[in-house]
Amino acid sequence: MVKKEFKAESKRLLEMMINSIYTQREIFLRELISNASDAIDKIYYKALSDDQLVFNKDDYYIKLAADKASRTLTILDTGIGMTKEELENNLGVIAKSGSLAFKKENESKDGHNIIGQFGVGFYSAFMVADTVTVISKALGSDEAYKWESQGADGYTIEPCSKASVGTEIILKIKENTEEDQYDEFLEEYRLKAIIKKYSDFIRYPIKMEVAVR
Ligand code: ADP
Ligand code: MG
Repeated sequence: MVKKEFKAESKRLLEMMINSIYTQREIFLRELISNASDAIDKIYYKALSDDQLVFNKDDYYIKLAADKASRTLTILDTGIGMTKEELENNLGVIAKSGSLAFKKENESKDGHNIIGQFGVGFYSAFMVADTVTVISKALGSDEAYKWESQGADGYTIEPCSKASVGTEIILKIKENTEEDQYDEFLEEYRLKAIIKKYSDFIRYPIKMEVAVR
């Protein structure tokens, strides 16, 4: 499979995320939950003007699943999903608000300010994960695609299967090192505390699934 390269600015931000010494890595969850919520909002607003689309409240939620054995944390949403093109355009480049915030004058400052001041968005996942996999099926499409990246050297996209519309972000949580602890991001109590701290206002249910073994 051909590995595609990130655009130059995306690569810089990615490298900053990957090598971040930032202490508040936990904000990656705020970013991913906020994206999941935005994706559900998009269906909600679409349904307001589309008679064919009914927004049944119970069908829309965000779900976290942590699995210590595989060291994965999955953030699932039943939102609008992404087509192959949207995966390319939205995740392959820094195009949205996060990037607008990433101004030249901030580059010399330490990661602290940049990450603390602005929503850095999707790429913040690389602060805690060494592989990020995004499986998505867009509303109105019967195809699903898998986007995957190990960081700055690029990403791949391939067709895959997914039963329902929405997005699943699978984070392969980094191994602990002498200096850095990542295990906490697989702990239910810790995830709950992070959600309480940053995502309390989210207006869709956030469910939690923890593998017991
Ligand atoms: P922002 O949220 O500021 O636009 P992000 O980097 O967080 O920037 O996300 C980039 C884009 O990727 C979003 O604007 C959206 O189009 C897309 N995206 C990210 N996560 C999801 C998701 N869970 N469902 C649908 N689209 C998503
Ligand atoms: Mg975002």
